[in-house]
Amino acid sequence: MSENKDSPHFYILGGGVCGLFAALEAQKKEARVTVLEKEKQAGGLAAGHLRKDNWYDLGVHMLHAFDQEVYDACSDAMGQERIEVPLKAQIKWLGKQYQYPLRGRDILRGLPPMELVSCITGLLIADIQGRLKMVTQVDDAESALKELYGIPLYKFFFEEFTHRYWGMHPSELSAEFVRRKMPRLSAVDVIKNFLSWLKIPSPNDSVEGALRFETLHYSKSGAEALPRCLSEKIRKQGGNLITGAPVSAVIHKHGVIQEVKMGDVQVGTAEDHYLSTIPITELILSLSPPPPQEVLIAARSLHYKPMVVYALLVKKERCMDALYTYYRDQIFHRVGEPKNAGLKVTPEGHTTLIVEMTCEVGDEKWGDGCFPDILQGLEAEGLCYREDVIEKHLIRSRYAYPIFKKGYEEHLQVIASYLAQFSNLKSVGRQGAFCYPNMHQAMKMGANGINELLQNRP
Ligand SMILES: Cc1cc2nc3c(=O)[nH]c(=O)nc-3n(C[C@H](O)[C@H](O)[C@H](O)COP(=O)(O)OP(=O)(O)OC[C@H]3O[C@@H](n4cnc5c(N)ncnc54)[C@H](O)[C@@H]3O)c2cc1C
Repeated sequence: MSENKDSPHFYILGGGVCGLFAALEAQKKEARVTVLEKEKQAGGLAAGHLRKDNWYDLGVHMLHAFDQEVYDACSDAMGQERIEVPLKAQIKWLGKQYQYPLRGRDILRGLPPMELVSCITGLLIADIQGRLKMVTQVDDAESALKELYGIPLYKFFFEEFTHRYWGMHPSELSAEFVRRKMPRLSAVDVIKNFLSWLKIPSPNDSVEGALRFETLHYSKSGAEALPRCLSEKIRKQGGNLITGAPVSAVIHKHGVIQEVKMGDVQVGTAEDHYLSTIPITELILSLSPPPPQEVLIAARSLHYKPMVVYALLVKKERCMDALYTYYRDQIFHRVGEPKNAGLKVTPEGHTTLIVEMTCEVGDEKWGDGCFPDILQGLEAEGLCYREDVIEKHLIRSRYAYPIFKKGYEEHLQVIASYLAQFSNLKSVGRQGAFCYPNMHQAMKMGANGINELLQNRP
């Protein structure tokens, strides 16, 4: 792979996995790359966090092998560091542990008899309405969930939990949120079983069952290995990866990006290409001169849900029999035990727990005010005793989840139409496209972004 000064130069804003993979794609095309990453280390959401002697992920982060090209490239970059992990996830539901994603029969097993009859009836009505095409074009998550699962199951299973998790009632969220983000309950297999018993042909496939058997990819030092290995490869191939480099201004003229600024430092020219993976809201607000008012309003109308992770070192060999478990009735939503995926924990006889919670910047969770509740929850779930927790570290993420609030599509459209004028700029990735990809999908977006920019060259 060679880089010469006449080849195109890509400035990649943000060094999460999307930006890193994009850099490798650009290098494959013999282009020059400079990745500008705000934090001291690359990786973004998928970065590892070293606290004392152990690595902690922001939520247990494992690579899916669904995209062959991405998987091959990651596997090649990680070499011997990659380890294979069979997916084993659980959900605690009405006091019992079930395999995650929940199967229809598990939901039914957990329900009290009256609720059971009501939920089955609701599911059947929802399904028949779907089959008779009586469903309308709904634009909010509440209506979408009711259409998929029926009213009783929506009320019993989704309403309160969704509200608590997202800090917003389902009626305030877009229907798109249900399609793109919500875990599927495999409710359809309940109906399929039921209808086949009644000898009625199989219903439509409007709800897909989520995958339950899969091999994931990880490392003995946790999530940190993947972005580190990608970063090393970029540098080895002559690429420039600058950390501690927050982009503060993106200068443009006549529909062409001229340069970007990090404080007083300026890089890039009008001949270069710019791939932004930073939050699209930040990109819009850093454009200079500023975009029209309607674009600024659209950017200010898009919001991200922050999260905190309590990263704990626990004096116990193992806490759970899974990679992670979802909880519906605790202050935390999910607890992961990366040792069960092969993470090396120091000292021996100890394990680490990754306790995840969504929050708001500045609230009690963000400010470390609810540790006693977490300890109480861990004890109540039989994971560990409070005195077993010997280290606690807080890891915060301001941009964990884009919020698909009702009407967000129009705001995004206003922004996309405005950005389309810049032939040498693309905004991609989880933050840059305001969507919910897994790592492999974010990486693919990065590679595609590079190729589209190359095609746009005059
Ligand atoms: C809790 C949780 C668990 C997850 N688990 C998995 C999993 O197991 N498997 C999986 O495949 N996916 C998982 N995901 C999804 C995955 O983490 C993301 O989709 C992926 O990491 C997104 O990568 P990205 O590069 O698009 O965005 P990000 O990782 O957000 O990267 C954006 C980068 O831009 C940088 N940046 C921001 N502003 C600036 C600026 N002004 N200047 C310079 N740099 C800037 C940020 O610091 C960051 O490094 C999980 C996500 C979460 C929240």
